[in-house]
Amino acid sequence: MKGTLSFIPEARKIDFYEYELPQPEPGAMLTEVTRTNVCGSEVHMWRGEFGRRGAMPGHEMVGRVHSLGQGVTTDTAGQPLKEGDRIAPVYYRVCGLCANCREGNAAACTGLSIRAKRLIPDEAPHFHTPWATHYYIHPGQHVYKVPDNVPDHAASSANCALSQVFFSLDRLNLRYDETLVVQGAGGLGLHAMAVAKARGARVIAIDGVDLRLQRAKAFGADEVIDMREYASVKDRTVRVRELTDGLGSDVVLEVAGVPAAFEEAIQLVRSGGRIAELGNISIGLQATISPSLITFKSISVVGVSTYNPHYLHKALQFLSEHMDQYPYHELVDAEFPLKNAAEAMDKSDRKEITRAALVP
Ligand SMILES: [Zn+2]
Ligand SMILES: [Zn+2]
Repeated sequence: MKGTLSFIPEARKIDFYEYELPQPEPGAMLTEVTRTNVCGSEVHMWRGEFGRRGAMPGHEMVGRVHSLGQGVTTDTAGQPLKEGDRIAPVYYRVCGLCANCREGNAAACTGLSIRAKRLIPDEAPHFHTPWATHYYIHPGQHVYKVPDNVPDHAASSANCALSQVFFSLDRLNLRYDETLVVQGAGGLGLHAMAVAKARGARVIAIDGVDLRLQRAKAFGADEVIDMREYASVKDRTVRVRELTDGLGSDVVLEVAGVPAAFEEAIQLVRSGGRIAELGNISIGLQATISPSLITFKSISVVGVSTYNPHYLHKALQFLSEHMDQYPYHELVDAEFPLKNAAEAMDKSDRKEITRAALVP
């Protein structure tokens, strides 16, 4: 039996290849992809920003167990697993041995793998990334059963946005009754708002687009700051102080993805407060900051690009418990068959759609 996978050899071109389905080695499993998404990094690949060798696209997915390698009887949390069960994998594997893994910060693993290896379709076991009919999960890679009440549209981004913000808010130690400012009400921001509300924090969302501000409210924001109304950094800083007894926010989450947002976060946070930087991922873009402000305000800044892999389990549990509370179905606004991935990426690149899903 054969499966299909995709490869982006150069900008704005996607090829599909067929390979015989691999037999999973002991400790591994082969899964069938039921839904995968177009996330930011695939749009970068589509623009040709991932090097000359081309790239295998995809990292967000939900699927079903196709076949289990010898010795695999449970998911990483110990729940019994059999063929046909719905699962979500962490899209990378951490080494468990490096200095960061040993200290419990596997998100900063220096031996993070799969990213580097996944570039060539011809290399066995071929199904390295989930923009494909099948996806291969290696021994040691975390994989979790998806709770029955969590539909594919919600589960498919749990292994990226939700796990990452969940981990970030723990890294920042966001506590009950603290204030969180979320810069940017996109996927990461909305997930963060829901998680922050569940731990009793007060959420202030900043954005400048009507639909995104509406969604911020739907995902639990107590206050929204419209960037068209509060047009300058100074206006927004004054507004955040008004809403926080003159202090500034305890915690700021930067998920707007522009350098200016990081500059602004330093203004919005209170003295002694914490900032998480997640949004800026374009190498080379620069911000102008005054380091003395970080010194005199005694601010902590934490960068987070992935998450400790067991957070995917927490993320799926969180979805299961809050499925009816928030409009998760609104986070994906377009669906394409896998073979029309080019159209999905063109439309995502032109921002005609915000979040596309690919289905078999
Ligand atoms: Zn993603
Ligand atoms: Zn490591």
